[in-house]
Amino acid sequence: MIEFKDLKRQYAALKDEIDGAISDVLKVCDFISGDSVRRLERELERYIGVKHCITCANGTDALSLAAEVLGIGEGDAIFIPDFTFFATGEIVSAVNATPVFVDVDNDTFNISPSALEYSITQVIKQGKLKPKAIIPVDLYGLPADMLRIRQIAEKYNLMVIEDGAQGFGGSTNGLKACSFGDISITSFFPAKPLGCYGDGGALFTDNDEYANTLRSLCVHGKGSDKYDNVRIGRNSRLDTIQAAVLLVKLKAFEETELSKLNKIASYYSENLKGNFILPTIPQGFYSSWAQYTLRFKDKQARDAAKKKLFENQIPSLIYYPKAMRNQTAFNGKGLYFGNGGTDLLCDTVLSIPIHPYLQDSEVFTIINFVNKL
Ligand SMILES: *Cc1c(COP(=O)(O)O)cnc(C)c1O
Repeated sequence: MIEFKDLKRQYAALKDEIDGAISDVLKVCDFISGDSVRRLERELERYIGVKHCITCANGTDALSLAAEVLGIGEGDAIFIPDFTFFATGEIVSAVNATPVFVDVDNDTFNISPSALEYSITQVIKQGKLKPKAIIPVDLYGLPADMLRIRQIAEKYNLMVIEDGAQGFGGSTNGLKACSFGDISITSFFPAKPLGCYGDGGALFTDNDEYANTLRSLCVHGKGSDKYDNVRIGRNSRLDTIQAAVLLVKLKAFEETELSKLNKIASYYSENLKGNFILPTIPQGFYSSWAQYTLRFKDKQARDAAKKKLFENQIPSLIYYPKAMRNQTAFNGKGLYFGNGGTDLLCDTVLSIPIHPYLQDSEVFTIINFVNKL
């Protein structure tokens, strides 16, 4: 049976190592801030190529901790893509800053640098809010155009928080996703490219001061020890058991899973042909294929395709059915200077199964059915 993401097969493949890692934690009962947490942070620093990794309770916390450390608050304009998971915008409003929804590039699904620069100049022109930060998202595993985004950030003196919740494992010009922000984040939600067995997240930065503050904020604003509280923080830690699972999964991700994902994506890209558009990976970019997403000509064609795949036992999902700026929760809370480009994507995208435990025969079954749509 073809699953959209097959965590059961992954567990079957890694069972001995994962069971061993969990039982090692059970033997010493260091459930909070145990040895595996530190080891995982060192491994992630090596993998991403940054000075500091700070694990935390989930990706949403990671985003809001980053916003807090960068001093984002009331009166600040924060530029985010209009096409992403809700959390990217949610954390902006949660600290009373104003989200500015920016159109994405239809071919890469990532924030459009030209639309971004236009939105920044419009906010400056209005003169009401202070442009403060950009939160580019590495959607579906593909890093955003970080080189251009960083140039724009420097030109207008903005901070960058890279939302790499879906981007872990991707890279551009040899540099890894989650290394491009003043602070970058990822999520270990089970279905993400590197997932744990519950909630989890991490922050990445080269800045020593940000790293120290983040380590403190995650543990009730601790100072020299946890009963010396020097700031108002929160409790946002990654459990030792989750870290132990992630150490096993990171090894599998590096050794086999990421290259398998790219092999499946290239089978798709070479063999899928029909009334749909395939995802584009620009020159110099490498995706971790959190999703493989087709675009159809209109909503009717997309919905019909989804139904037909379902009838043939091929799961497919719509990421995302609604533009961020149209979410009820943002009613009147954000700014938008675009032309509604995201709405077309919401009506026409369809993600088909991709995970490292798909067998070649299953990949060709999928190709076969999709080509008949
Ligand atoms: C999943 C996701 C998040 C949130 O991560 P959680 O760990 O679920 O809190 C944030 N941003 C994007 C783009 C995501 O896909």
